[in-house]
Amino acid sequence: MAASRIDGKAIAADVRVNVASAVKALPSQPTLAVILVGEDPASQVYVNSKIKQTEECGMRSLHRVLPANATQAEVEAEIAALNADDEVDGILLQLPLPKGLDSDAAIEKISPDKDVDGLTEASAGRLVLGKLGLRPCTPSGCVILAKRALGDDLSGKHVVVVGRSILVGKPAALLFLAENCTVTIAHSRTKDLAAVCREADILVPAVGRPQMLTGEYVKAGATVIDVGINRIDAPERGEGKSRLVGDAEFSSCENIAGHITPVPGGVGPMTIACLLQNTVLAACARRGWSVPD
Ligand code: NDP
Repeated sequence: MAASRIDGKAIAADVRVNVASAVKALPSQPTLAVILVGEDPASQVYVNSKIKQTEECGMRSLHRVLPANATQAEVEAEIAALNADDEVDGILLQLPLPKGLDSDAAIEKISPDKDVDGLTEASAGRLVLGKLGLRPCTPSGCVILAKRALGDDLSGKHVVVVGRSILVGKPAALLFLAENCTVTIAHSRTKDLAAVCREADILVPAVGRPQMLTGEYVKAGATVIDVGINRIDAPERGEGKSRLVGDAEFSSCENIAGHITPVPGGVGPMTIACLLQNTVLAACARRGWSVPD
């Protein structure tokens, strides 16, 4: 029997509805500031989408655009100005930055209290220590999707995260650990990856290799939360056409898994939804408001 599909688009829409009703219950509107450096078309699309969804949830958005030849000092000065602006609750630096700019150094300038992407060292430290803080968005989305498939109590589930990046793999592993899962982190040096993956009740491919994990990596009935987003050629759709695929090979995994996220429409839509959720949390923490239910 084919796995049931976890509809990330619908679940992200639910999260946004909750964010919008939380915003209505707050004493004033939270504000998310987005900084875009340069004119990368994909980044422009992401930024526009973030601004639109922020405003649809009833929050204010501030858009700061710097030219592609902006210096490191100029980018950091913009961040410093937003850190100092009491109206601003969340700061998002759209990545990647143009060549020559140091994104790690720039991210470090974001006040941890406004770090709605959860990428500063302070946020990472709070995650490791299990302290209150803003969690990275894509990994948070993975946990929400797993809970929607399996119920809120994930304790004791064996999670195998394939990938150990700072952005996805490591924080995803820590977030599942915080849910009392038993977590294995696999990576490019893992021996017999397929056998390791077949141990998973919840398999989280975050590799960046199109369709690498076939059905032979999946235990019967397991939940597959596919973080990968890869564009591949699709000549069957016409000359020069392409399509998006995950790191799991959907058709073979679907026959074995119990639940699976599609790509697109799985983890992808959750990232912005979790960013909006983080903006509400950041506003509440900074302004001393209690978080609406
Ligand atoms: P990175 O390239 O930073 O990390 C990839 C990880 O996969 C590394 O830890 C690497 O191991 C591991 N890896 C690579 N090849 C293999 C292999 N053959 N076997 C086992 N492990 C391997 O990628 P990201 O973490 O940034 O992104 C991962 C995927 O998630 C990408 O497809 C990306 O597009 C997608 N993504 C999706 C988002 C969303 O919103 N849904 C957001 C962010 C990313 P090692 O450390 O040993 O090199």
